[in-house]
Amino acid sequence: MKKFFALLMAVMMLTVALTGCGAGNTDTTDASENGADTKVITVATNAYFPPYEFYDDNNEIVGIDMEIMQLICNKLGYEMKIEDMEFDTIIAAVQSGKAQVGAAGMTVTEDRLLEVNFSDTYTTAKQVIIVPEDSAIKSADDLTDKKIGVQLGTTGDIYISGDVEDGLYGNATVEQYQNGITAVQALSQGKIDAVIIDNEPAKVFVEQNEGLKILEAEYIEEEYAFAIAKDNTELLDEINATLADITASGELQAIVDKYITAE
Ligand code: GLN
Repeated sequence: MKKFFALLMAVMMLTVALTGCGAGNTDTTDASENGADTKVITVATNAYFPPYEFYDDNNEIVGIDMEIMQLICNKLGYEMKIEDMEFDTIIAAVQSGKAQVGAAGMTVTEDRLLEVNFSDTYTTAKQVIIVPEDSAIKSADDLTDKKIGVQLGTTGDIYISGDVEDGLYGNATVEQYQNGITAVQALSQGKIDAVIIDNEPAKVFVEQNEGLKILEAEYIEEEYAFAIAKDNTELLDEINATLADITASGELQAIVDKYITAE
């Protein structure tokens, strides 16, 4: 009998735990003071990725991703809250319900699609290679035996780490940094030979650090989208419909143009 009660207790506790977990996953919060329900969308990002997300002079997080998500939230009548975190924790935050959307210049990959859903893509991007101006490295082929810097957990990291492990670059090593700018600073200081990173942040970082250049030969092409929890298809549909609207109206392009001047 004792055993039965113990089992019953265990089942009850598990039920409470599971229900509690489900409740944590909800994306509705009462945010307004007058009692009206305003849904709060928490957007997870890593604000060291200009021009998509970065701190401006007033210490506010701004950028293309933030403005697109703000516009989407405005159109959907949601309040938007930004959570700045390490890039490699964003997917887990979205999965756990800590955030409803990951907006971080995030590339759609097969592996990530196993963990979260992605919205329709809103821009294309490239992984590029940054080297010192006088470097002998002319393309990815010259990375053999070199020290290559990346931002931890990004596609630049995933691709080159895979290739280095497969022995494609001799004794090359991959140095993982918590964000792109620290990788670029290490390059400036001669601690590493190259940095692989997304093209638009690369342009900003090269402008901010003298003596560096971006190689003409691109490393890889990719597409950015917003990450949303697998079970939150309602929000996924709403975001996709709004993305289509703001693409058709030109509002999305206007945001991009504000941050990226056409070459
Ligand atoms: N696009 C890259 C990725 O998704 C880098 C994103 C970032 O560093 N914010 O992995």
